Amino acid sequence: MENKCALCNGKLRDKIVDYKIYEKSIGKFRAFVCNSYGEEWFDEEISRKIERKSNFQFF
Ligand SMILES: [Zn+2]
Repeated sequence: MENKCALCNGKLRDKIVDYKIYEKSIGKFRAFVCNSYGEEWFDEEISRKIERKSNFQFF
């Protein structure tokens, strides 16, 4: 993954974030956080994991 934010071209930093959906935490994941505006990006594998976990919790 390129270390640049796709929205603002800011620099991305590796960070472990507590991912929440409707205020409910579904776990901690490695994200890339933009240091200009704070957007959080996840790589494909982690996005899939988050998706699976959220499906598991809500359906
Ligand atoms: Zn950004």
